Amino acid sequence: MMTTTRPQDNQKNDSMTAPQRLMKISQDIAALSEQVNIIAVSKTFSPEAIAPVLAAGHRVFGENRVQEVAEKWPDLKASYPDVELHLIGALQSNKAAQAVALFDVIHSLDRIKLARVLAAEMKQQNRQLKILVQVNTGKEDQKSGIPPEETEEFVRTCRAELGLNIDGLMCLPPQQDVAGPHFALLQKLSQQCDAPLLSMGMSGDYEEAIKFGATHIRLGTAIFGPRTQKL
Ligand SMILES: *Cc1c(COP(=O)(O)O)cnc(C)c1O
Repeated sequence: MMTTTRPQDNQKNDSMTAPQRLMKISQDIAALSEQVNIIAVSKTFSPEAIAPVLAAGHRVFGENRVQEVAEKWPDLKASYPDVELHLIGALQSNKAAQAVALFDVIHSLDRIKLARVLAAEMKQQNRQLKILVQVNTGKEDQKSGIPPEETEEFVRTCRAELGLNIDGLMCLPPQQDVAGPHFALLQKLSQQCDAPLLSMGMSGDYEEAIKFGATHIRLGTAIFGPRTQKL
């Protein structure tokens, strides 16, 4: 699958490499906030495309498929054991065990059944991941996530009934919308839920997300260039 991907690192008009783009973004956002973590979203990109970013010292990466990570990351992790992997895509309950073993942070908790399975798996594997609840701020039918008005209750249930730590919230605003109001809503919910990690902002809107207190921005294209494979 990912072996057929040919990331064109230098094809972006500015001809910078992925590590150079990442460096520039880090410098630019340092002026906006001291608190924001860049998740380099490496989905569809090959180990060869990822290696230079690791070599440059970056350790926080995002992927959206368990299977892809199982194939791609064990070798990279052998060389860079302190890598932190974030699952930013939908998770099926039957892949939860694998996800708990492979990832450090899960951004896509979106239903109680998954919460139950994750709580059990973390106990079983004696691994404590950070967990973020995905909120469907745009209430889109085709998008997963907890509706905004149910988020507080959902977080409370996860904590009280399952003993599951909820560390933060994540959102993916509707493509056609101005993102700001969605980020503002997520920020407000995060305060109400006392779930301080705020995963919001992608290549096109991360500066806006930082204004609303994003702690984690998820950048794919802005670092690695365009994806040749749709995911
Ligand atoms: C792919 C993906 C990203 C990165 O998108 P870019 O626009 O390439 O930065 C961020 N978040 C999620 C959930 C994604 O699936």
